[in-house]
Order: sequence, then structure tokens, then C-alpha cells
Amino acid sequence: MNKVVGRFAPSPSGRMHMGNLWSCLLAWLSARSAGGGMVLRLEDLDPDRCRQAYCDQVMRDLEWLGLDWDGAPVYQSKRTELYRQAFQKLEQQGIIYPCFCTRAERLAASAPHRSDGIAVYDGRCGRLTAEEREKLAHTRRPAWRVRVPGEEVSFNDLLQGSFSENLAQDCGDFILRRSDGVYAYQLAVVVDDADMGVTQVVRGSDLLSSAPRQIWLQDRLGLPHTEYGHLPLLLAPDGRRLAKRDRDLELGRLQEEFTASELVGRLAFAAGLTDRPDPMTPQELIPLFSWEKLPKEDFTI
Ligand code: GLU
Repeated sequence: MNKVVGRFAPSPSGRMHMGNLWSCLLAWLSARSAGGGMVLRLEDLDPDRCRQAYCDQVMRDLEWLGLDWDGAPVYQSKRTELYRQAFQKLEQQGIIYPCFCTRAERLAASAPHRSDGIAVYDGRCGRLTAEEREKLAHTRRPAWRVRVPGEEVSFNDLLQGSFSENLAQDCGDFILRRSDGVYAYQLAVVVDDADMGVTQVVRGSDLLSSAPRQIWLQDRLGLPHTEYGHLPLLLAPDGRRLAKRDRDLELGRLQEEFTASELVGRLAFAAGLTDRPDPMTPQELIPLFSWEKLPKEDFTI
């Protein structure tokens, strides 16, 4: 079997919180316990939200925790040319179309939200005639969508078992490039994972429903598939999903109270890798890691 290569793919739009640490620790343990590599990619595509200072902070925080990576960090903001090439490949397949809908129109044009909050776009801009497009092009800059087939995409998740989605029904045509020219996460992630030799994607289960889109894009672009492991989410004490605004569980705040080993030890205990929440280093956890031990349900820490 090929060597496992895992990745950290944080979005540097603020300080990491407990949920990010959880994903980073387990992604690292999964790769390192298999004798594999680990790469770091800073997902700083959105110029409005991402800052170099946050990127630096993410790296300091990973180091503080005792999580290392191989090679130089990769910045998505510097890889536009690669995304452009992939986008062009899809354009040549005739499956990209401009979408002139405003945000409000997009919502109105969407089927009721799915359980994960993603709306299914009804594809209306994909049915515009050439004249209609021409006319609308004078009024505003379009976003660009990819037309998806009514095809079932299935995969076997390391933790969640078999998962499948019918792209047309469950997802709808999705955006690959925003109207301000920024390439979308779904495209960038697929291009980058392949380019960086990533074989294993370990991340929160909030991204489980992105995997079928990414697998389908890998196929369209002739890129290899990766393995997926979607982790249960850490919930805020009131049961909500953790967000960057939950300052109490932000790393800066946690560092006032805990050492790195104390935090890692608590996460390892929550992961079922140890039977007490005692301080542990990531290195010490390597021999204890196994996918079978991990919980499948979201939980509060
Ligand atoms: N950058 C994404 C995040 O921080 C993760 C993307 C991924 O793992 O595919 O939520």
C-alpha cells in the first residue's frame, strides 16, 4: 500500500478553537500512527477573512500542541494559477455556466435547506439562453457553477461507514468561482489534495456532505481519490456546534488555563484513546491511536 499522507487544512480567519484542535490532533495521529506524512495547507482563499497574522498564529498553535508537519506550508492564496487550470479543464467539458443570481435570488431559487444547512440550487441560470446571458452580463458579474448529474456518489468513510449522495437531488449545481473571482473551496481542496500527495482526509463531520462533490470533481479532473475520516463534532456546552465566536474554547483562552499536554490529554480521553484525562503528548498517543476507538456521535467537552 502507498504511504499515508494526511493534512492539516485550517482556515486562518481567526484563532483555532477546541474543535479545530480535535480535528488536527486526530488527523495527525491517524497519519503518524500509520508511519505516514503530514502536510500543512493554509486555506486563506478569502481575502476578506484571512490574514497572514492568523496563518502565523495557526502554525505557532500547532507547534505549541506538539503537532508537526513535513515540508513548507502551502498557502492557497498563492495557487490561483493551479485552480484556474482545473477550472478551465471543467469549462472545456462544457459543465460550467455563469450564475447571475444575487444572494437573495439564490436563496429564493433553492429547495428547502438540507439538514446541514446547504440549500439545493434549482439550476435556473443553467437554463438561460445565450441572449439572456448576454443581457445579464451587462448588469452584473456572475459567479460560476458546475452542472452536476443525477448520479449517486458513494464512499466508505473510515468512521461514518458508507455514505452516498445524489448530486443533483441532494446538492445541486454548486459554485466553483465566486463573482469576485475567488475560486471556491470545493475546487481548491480537490486540486490541492492531489497536488500535495494527500491520501487521507481527516476532518469534522460538518464536511461529510462535501466529500461526494469532491470525489465527483476528482473524477472529472482525472485526480486520484483520497480516503476520508469524518470526525464527530465538539459541541458548545449548550449543544450548539462550536464556532469561532465561542471565545471560551478558543486556544488563546484555553492556554491561560491549560498546558498543551493537559489539553491533548483531555482530547485523547474524549477520543477514547486513554481511560483518564491525564496530560499526554501527541507523541505518546501514537501507539494508542486506532479508528475503532473513536466515538461516532457529536459530544460536549
Ligand atoms: N479549511 C476547512 C476548515 O477549516 C477544512 C477543509 C477540509 O478539511 O477539507 O473548516
